[in-house]
Amino acid sequence: MPVPLPLDAHLHTDLSPDADVPLDVYAALAREQGVAELAITDHIDFVAGDPAYHYADYDRRVRVVREAAERWAGEPVIRLGLEVSYGHDVEGEIREYLATHAYDYVIGSVHLGRQGPFRDPRTAAAWCAGKSHREATAFYWDEVEWAIRSGLFDTLGHLDFVKRYTQRHLGPFEYEAHADIYDRLLRGLVDSGTALEVNASGLRQEPGEPYPAPAVVARFRELGGERVVAGSDAHRVEQFAFGLAEAYRSIGRAGFRELSFRRGRDRVAVELSTELVETLLGAGVGANTGRGVTGA
Ligand SMILES: [Zn+2]
Ligand SMILES: [Zn+2]
Repeated sequence: MPVPLPLDAHLHTDLSPDADVPLDVYAALAREQGVAELAITDHIDFVAGDPAYHYADYDRRVRVVREAAERWAGEPVIRLGLEVSYGHDVEGEIREYLATHAYDYVIGSVHLGRQGPFRDPRTAAAWCAGKSHREATAFYWDEVEWAIRSGLFDTLGHLDFVKRYTQRHLGPFEYEAHADIYDRLLRGLVDSGTALEVNASGLRQEPGEPYPAPAVVARFRELGGERVVAGSDAHRVEQFAFGLAEAYRSIGRAGFRELSFRRGRDRVAVELSTELVETLLGAGVGANTGRGVTGA
């Protein structure tokens, strides 16, 4: 049996253009696997022509999520979240939208692969040719820092997502060689009160580790970070809660004993029980076996 987890704070349903899972399917899996609470964080884009630009309107999001929440009657609890594709050039539009549309929980993320050098493998290869990691990714970190400093989001999603696109051209993005870049962003999170997300999707993608890696989560705590949260970022049925226990383990190892989440008006702490922490830290959590925890 997988270890029960209190929250998966990042899930995409068929209200996202790149996902195909009806909300009820996730809810059934959550009930079966003991994930107590879900944040449905479908995409929204603010650049005309991007896939989630005017894709699912607000009323539909609210209706689908609130009706499901009622049907599932708290097992699991289902929250209306949102994942905003952040762009500094559309920050005004994002600010206006969030001021006029209520969500329980909002993630801000910098996405690649729609415009720019990482939109397809060929342009990515050409972009990376002759560049260092640092040179190839500088524009991404600047954008992430803008997102953090905007103060618009509860959580910054998949902090170092760019490594998904650079790995095949430049190799693994090593923490030690780029600690200064991470420090800059982590300090921004601390200053702005934005939570750091440990996003498990990197475990099923080329980097083979969460966004960001455990060393970054540990450094965040060292720098005074208090707000951290975990999400699977599932887009397919088989990705539900995949690697989520591994993300929790990274959080527990770093010394955190609660997750930071928002349920509408209130930011809340979601406690990690002693039993959960002991299970996570005491047993190997297989990244390749979904969220299975041996010995639990
Ligand atoms: Zn994302
Ligand atoms: Zn996502």
